[in-house]
Order: sequence, then C-alpha cells, then structure tokens
Amino acid sequence: MRPQILFPIFAAITTLPGIGPRNAKLIERLAGARVVDLLWLLPRDIVDRRYMATVAAAEADRIVTLKVTVDAHMPPPSKRRPYRIKCSDDSGDLTLVFFHARSDYLHRTLPEGSVKIVSGRMEHYQGGAQMTHPDYIVDPEDAESVCRVEPVYPLTAGISPKILHRAIEAALALTVALPEWLDPAHQRQQNWPNWRDALLTAHAPDEAAALSPLSEARARLAYDELLANQLALGLMRENQRAQAGRENRGDGRLRQKVLQSLPFELTASQTKVLGEIDADTASSGRMLRLLQGDVGSGKTVVALFMMLNAIECGGQAAIMAPTEILARQHFATISNLTEKAGLRVVILTGRDRGAARAAKLEALATGDADIIVGTHALFQDDVNFKKLRAAVIDEQHRFGVHQRIMLGQKGDGVDILVMTATPIPRSLTLTAFGDLDVSRLTEKPPGRTPVITRIMPMDRHGDVIDAIRRALSKDARVYWVCPLVEESETLDLAAAEERYSELKAHFGDTVALAHGQMKSVEKDDAVARFAQGDARILVATTVIEVGVDVPEATIMVIEHAERFGLAQLHQLRGRIGRGERASTCLLLYGSPLTETARARLKIIRDTEDGFRIAEEDLKIRGAGEMLGTRQSGMPQFRVADIEFHGDLLATARNDAKLILGQDPELQTERGKGLRVLLYLFERDAAVLNLRSG
Ligand code: ADP
Ligand code: MG
Repeated sequence: MRPQILFPIFAAITTLPGIGPRNAKLIERLAGARVVDLLWLLPRDIVDRRYMATVAAAEADRIVTLKVTVDAHMPPPSKRRPYRIKCSDDSGDLTLVFFHARSDYLHRTLPEGSVKIVSGRMEHYQGGAQMTHPDYIVDPEDAESVCRVEPVYPLTAGISPKILHRAIEAALALTVALPEWLDPAHQRQQNWPNWRDALLTAHAPDEAAALSPLSEARARLAYDELLANQLALGLMRENQRAQAGRENRGDGRLRQKVLQSLPFELTASQTKVLGEIDADTASSGRMLRLLQGDVGSGKTVVALFMMLNAIECGGQAAIMAPTEILARQHFATISNLTEKAGLRVVILTGRDRGAARAAKLEALATGDADIIVGTHALFQDDVNFKKLRAAVIDEQHRFGVHQRIMLGQKGDGVDILVMTATPIPRSLTLTAFGDLDVSRLTEKPPGRTPVITRIMPMDRHGDVIDAIRRALSKDARVYWVCPLVEESETLDLAAAEERYSELKAHFGDTVALAHGQMKSVEKDDAVARFAQGDARILVATTVIEVGVDVPEATIMVIEHAERFGLAQLHQLRGRIGRGERASTCLLLYGSPLTETARARLKIIRDTEDGFRIAEEDLKIRGAGEMLGTRQSGMPQFRVADIEFHGDLLATARNDAKLILGQDPELQTERGKGLRVLLYLFERDAAVLNLRSG
C-alpha cells in the first residue's frame, strides 16, 4: 500500500484549487492526471524579469519590467489594426499594443490615469518605444510578484502559462518533507538538498545554470529516480534468486539428435553463449539471463538447446514470442529440428479456442507436451504446466519485467532466458535490466552477404519500380515496407493498401499484403505465400519487423525511411541478407530531409552492426528520445536523462546493491525511506517482493 504521506501528491489534479475539468484535461495531456505528474514537469527555460528601467533607458529586444502611467486609449480605426494605449514615465512615452483586443477588458485592466507595472519585451518601432501584449500588467504594490525570474514550462496547445504556473505552485504546496532515503555521506559529498528542497529549487531556477540536468537540485531528483529504478530491479532479481532453482544437467542425448538434423555447425559465439547458459542451468540457483544478439545472429538455436537440456532433465520448456507470426515461425523451425528426437511441440496463441485449446492445455498440464511455443496467451491463468523448467522470452522489448516474472511463476525454479535483438547500448541495458547476467552473440553465422543499402528520394519511385521489375525477372523476392503514420493506424493502413493496389497494377498477383489490422490468419497466409514463393512482393507495415525469416528475399524497399527509428530500420533490414545472394535495401525518404535525418540514414547505410547503430543513434538523438520510441519498451524516466546522468546511474546501481546486501527487507530507518522512494516513483510492484511489503 502506498504510504499515507504520499496521498496528497497522488491525488487527481482536479483536487488542485482553480483547476477545472477543462484545464485538467489539458494538463493531463501535458503531464499526467495526478499532482505528482506536475511535480516532475520541470521548467525548460527561464524569463528574467528582474531588469527594471525607465522607458527611455530600457534596451530594445529585452524583457523589461516598467512602471508607467496610463495616458490614453486609442481604439483602432478598423478591426484589422491593433488597439494602442499611450503610457509614459518621467523619461518618455511607451505604446502598449494589442491585437484583437476587447476594449472593455482593456479599460478594466488599464484605466486611464492609473499607474501600472507592465512586463514584456521592449520594442523600438518607428522611433517610439512599444510593448506588444505585455506578459504582466499589475498594480504597483504587486511589483514583486512580477519582478523575478520566472520558470518557463513546456506547454501544450490551449493551456496558458499562467494556469500551468498556478497548478504547479499548488502542486508544490501539497508536498511535505519525506524521510531521507539517501546515504548521508553520499548526500553530503554531492551537496544535495533534501527531496522537497530539491523539488522546490528545481521549479524556481534563478539563472540559466539552474536548468542544467547536472544542477544539484535536478541531479538529486534524477538520482532518486535512478535509485528507485535500480532498487526495484534489484528486489525483483533477489526475489528470483531466493527461489530455489534446480540443477538441470542434461545428458546431451536430445541435443545430439538435433545437432544431426542441423544443416550447419554452431558458431563459436553460439557455443560460448551456450556454455554460459549451461553453467547457469546446472547450478542450484535460478537462471535469469539476457541474450543480446543482432538480427540473424542465430538466437533461436541457442534457445532451443537450452530447452533441450531442460527436457533431458525431465522438464518442459516454453518459448514465448511477441507476435503470432513469430510464434508460428518458431513453431515451424522447432518442430522441424526436433522431429527426429521425437519431441512433442505444441503452439498456443490467442487464436486457439474451445476444444482445440482445451486439448492443448491438457497436453501442457499432463506433461505430454515437451515444448510449448506461444504468444501472450501463455500468461493466461488457466495455462498450467506439469513441470516447466525453462522459459525463453524472445524479443524482450515487447514485454515488461512483470510479465517475465509471471512466466517464471508458472513453474517451480524455472530458468529464464530473455532474448533481445534490439541492440541496446550498454548504458541503457542497466536501466532496463539492472544486473541481469548478459550474454552476447557477437558473431554472425557464416554464408551471409552484406546488404547494400542506398538512400534515395521518394520521387524516384519510377526508377524503383523499374529496378524491381528487373529483379523479379531474375526471381528475386521483395519486401516493400510502408510508411508509418504515427498518429493514425487508419492512415497507416490506407497508405499500405494504396501501395498494394499500385504494385498489383504493375506486377499482378505476385503481390501480397500484410498489415497489423488484418486478421492474423490472413496475415500469416500472406507471409506464408511469400515464404513459399507464391507471392514475390510482400507489401507490409512494420509487422514484419520482428522475426520473419524468408532467406530467399533479397530486396527491401522502405518508404519514408526517415520516419522510422534506427533500431527499427536495422530490424527491418535484417529480414534480407539472410541467404547467399546479394541483397539490396532501398531507403526512400520524403523531401526535404533534415540534417539530423540524413545523418541517421547514413548510419544505417554505412554499417550493419546493430550495436554500433544503437550507440550512434544514442549520440544523435539522446537517450530521452531513444527511450521514448514506441517499441523500445525501455523504462520511461520522468526526471533522469541517461545522456546526462550516466554516472549517476552507475552509482545508483552500486548503491542499490549495497542496500540490498545490508538491508534486504528495507527494515532500517533508511530502508523505510527507500520504501517511500519506491512508491514515489511508482515501483509498487517491487515493494511486493518484500516479505513484509
Ligand atoms: P535471430 O537471432 O535473429 O533470432 P535466427 O535464430 O532466426 O536469428 O537465425 C537466423 C538464421 O540463421 C536462421 O535461418 C538460422 O537457421 C540460421 N543460423 C543460425 N545459426 C547458424 C549457424 N551456426 N550457421 C549457419 N546458419 C545459422
Ligand atoms: Mg529471433
């Protein structure tokens, strides 16, 4: 349960004074629906209104705060002209300018003869001093409220800065001091304020330097978040470790049989990784290992060998994929390879219903099935295994930490292998996976030809069609990937369907279409036709991004490549270059292309090394954006930014380790503070791992 001390800041923003339903909606879109979300919305700039001057002395093009007397209103002669108000001080005249102004409002705020404080940007226009739409107009006794450094927050359409300021001030007013969770020596050494002071300071920057992510206040808040993240991961990991595992040491008889049906030898890298896995599974603890390997590096075989070991020891094994297509593909590959070994492989997806599903569940529950391939459907409550010992989760980035644990709970002492093809830079692995043991497949299977990648403007569409016609005459198979339209799946779809019809007009029935909103049967059918060669062009949205394996495909066209993330482009391109024939990838871009976009596409053109692409991408875009990408599944941070806070992350990781070593149940005074920290950053699930949660 969330500690009471946090209740006020976890209340809805509608509880804040002066925030009605309309503004609440807007703020929700910007920050979130709760008070705490506003606390994490930090200023991105400042406006310094401390500069006061006389009208004559005020520098042009600078924010200035002036004290003036209102002399005369000068309504515009026509609606299109602005409303002017003549003001002055002892040094000279100032004209205030308002477009689309309402005269009654202006008479109320700026009555003739009154003295007012105005603050805004000073302009010199046709020899006179003027200010267009002052940001503030107040009475002289309120000068102090204006004459200060004002934080500037990110805004969303429709919300006024004043309303947002008011909401944030109200949110800050609800905060109270929290028990300190930092190590006192560490805090002193960093000169960090306590949490509440850090928050207040971060919201009241007095100079540009205070906006730096490395300022003491912001660094403290970022550290808090990273510590919560690392502690949560550490707790889950400890929990996993605490559950006894089994010593799964197979005799190799199944592996031997499967090796015989493999059309290739394992690479040195695969053998090495298998050694690491075997050492884990043979030990008495539970394995929780991340296998990172670029697209096409041959993770599936490694996973299969781990599963065979579990079966040799009398257990069952499961492998879970993020999509139906990928699950079917694993099912086909694995069934093939294990046929001679006489294993029973079952596939369970969301498509299974009724009696067929019941029969499969029965096979899992009785232990008849040795290997279970599935999708999310494996998480369902009524899915029970007789003796699950090994679980493989493929393409991790689609699943959360939580689900990983759920699958682990379907058995007793299950060893878990998490596989990802998203080449996550090292600095980011830590945030997503904490201290997971990591194996890397660094070498690709032999016999691959490098992919030639070209960058071309979309308007060379005609040339592309010609090139495809030539390639088809030589029996090529082509992926045509359609643009991603961020906001709208419908538009996405329309684009894909339009391209499909166009290509059909050129190439007839050899064109197939697969997209995310098709029924999965139809989608699989399209992919299957392409795999068998009945279709030679597969028009697709990013549904093919993950796992589809058609070695005969040698050409990929990606429309509006600039709209994709680099990791995604890399994944997509990984679908070709899988056979012996030379492959070509055409990245088509819409003009004009920004410098950054061009730089990003060049990275893809120049290398096929996923890890390098990820590192370069991180450099260009920064971690924030990278983490934010739709498919990344990386934790989203509110305050921390790995680009700036990499060092803090490393410290937080060590800190978390120490804490869990000394106070694993978070029982000490500091431990109690840390519990509050976990709730503050909404790592509630982690707290559940404590015995006395
Ligand atoms: P990924 O790591 O992307 O999941 P896969 O496991 O799907 O890669 O393997 C990609 C292709 O490489 C498959 O066609 C697979 O049969 C083949 N492959 C895997 N290991 C080897 C190897 N040692 N030698 C040759 N080909 C291999
Ligand atoms: Mg794979």
